[in-house]
Amino acid sequence: MDDTDHLAGIRESVRAICKSFGEGYWRELDSRGGYPTEFVAAITQSGFLGCLIPESYGGAGLGLVEACAVLEEISRSGGHPGAAHAQMYVMGSVLRHGSPEQKQKYLPAVAAGELRLQSFGVTEPTTGTDTTSLKTFARREGGKFIVNGQKVWISRVQHSDLMVLLARTRPIEERTSKTDGLSSFIVDLRGAQERGLTIKPIDAMINHHACELFFDDFEIPEENLLGEENAGFRVVLDGMNAERILIAAECIGDARYFTDRSTTYARERVVFDRPIGQNQGVSFPIAQAYANTEAAALMVDKAARLFDAGQPCGAEANMAKMLAADASWKAGDTCLQTHGGFGMSREYHIERKLRETRLYQIAPISTNLILSYISEHVLGMPRSF
Ligand SMILES: Cc1cc2nc3c(=O)[nH]c(=O)nc-3n(C[C@H](O)[C@H](O)[C@H](O)COP(=O)(O)OP(=O)(O)OC[C@H]3O[C@@H](n4cnc5c(N)ncnc54)[C@H](O)[C@@H]3O)c2cc1C
Repeated sequence: MDDTDHLAGIRESVRAICKSFGEGYWRELDSRGGYPTEFVAAITQSGFLGCLIPESYGGAGLGLVEACAVLEEISRSGGHPGAAHAQMYVMGSVLRHGSPEQKQKYLPAVAAGELRLQSFGVTEPTTGTDTTSLKTFARREGGKFIVNGQKVWISRVQHSDLMVLLARTRPIEERTSKTDGLSSFIVDLRGAQERGLTIKPIDAMINHHACELFFDDFEIPEENLLGEENAGFRVVLDGMNAERILIAAECIGDARYFTDRSTTYARERVVFDRPIGQNQGVSFPIAQAYANTEAAALMVDKAARLFDAGQPCGAEANMAKMLAADASWKAGDTCLQTHGGFGMSREYHIERKLRETRLYQIAPISTNLILSYISEHVLGMPRSF
């Protein structure tokens, strides 16, 4: 089986699963802020959510290229992979930085779908994108760390057993570099609300299950430190490239979903006695959206292949996320316009998908921060902050 057949097989299997969860399923969840428990169970059982976990830990041992195909197909089918995508990549921090005991304890259970590791606690309300200034503090005391502080927009925390948390372990005045003094932890969320963690869901524009977290003398055993103490930024950074590339693939799926819908409608909808797609004012924006999407997809593929080859891919991962998020937004806006008033109707699903894909210009990193990265690290222009 060559590379193309192999990916085509994965895509076909994912499409078959998605078929049982039609767009009505996602619309109904969206309307009440529900979680797609049945869908997540089905995609977990198929092995696709654990596809990046090596076979030695019970996963499928596939690469990011294959994982991208999985998420793209879920998006393209009209689903919302944001409900579960982190189960794929958060484990990367454990895989690359965990001790042998941590890997053995968590990875086989994550691969089997017995443990949900799909929360990543980084963002804070007062520091936002300026991650290395975060304030949540984990004080070492005896054999444990005592955590106090606040996080915001932490997704799926109510639907996860474990979370990778980034907290400060050395006072900011004593740090030796911007990234020094932060540590990563594996937090067991089961029963955590009785142990000093308050979880407050955020009422948001999309059904992403994001929450505010308040830590009040919350204890983490020292064996849950992930990687070296005070060097935890590296632990989360490694996972961020994978996250950006996978989310870019979701955006490509969204963009292709929108273009599928646009072209179908433009062929079928007749106004002034002809299909609206016969008007170039309708067809050209769709063609433009298609071209943008295909260009962005090449960057996503390049970034994923670099990642799989263990090559540096920071620039490509960032560009892939930015270009794919732009392409999906423009394809979505065009799709809405093509549908005229019907695009606004919830029945047509377009407004829901447009809300969902809009997130990716903001999270997991906003466009300005990507442009700033390219300006400084790729093009060698002066650092702006
Ligand atoms: C639905 C949702 C789910 C999320 N899930 C998670 C999660 O699971 N885990 C997690 O840790 N975080 C999560 N986030 C947080 C997300 O990563 C942040 O919202 C994002 O990184 C932006 O941070 P901020 O909201 O604090 O914006 P800010 O940092 O306040 O920035 C606001 C705006 O100003 C711009 N800006 C700021 N500084 C500069 C500058 N120097 N130059 C140019 N422009 C600048 C930004 O680009 C942005 O547009 C989620 C967010 C949302 C909305």
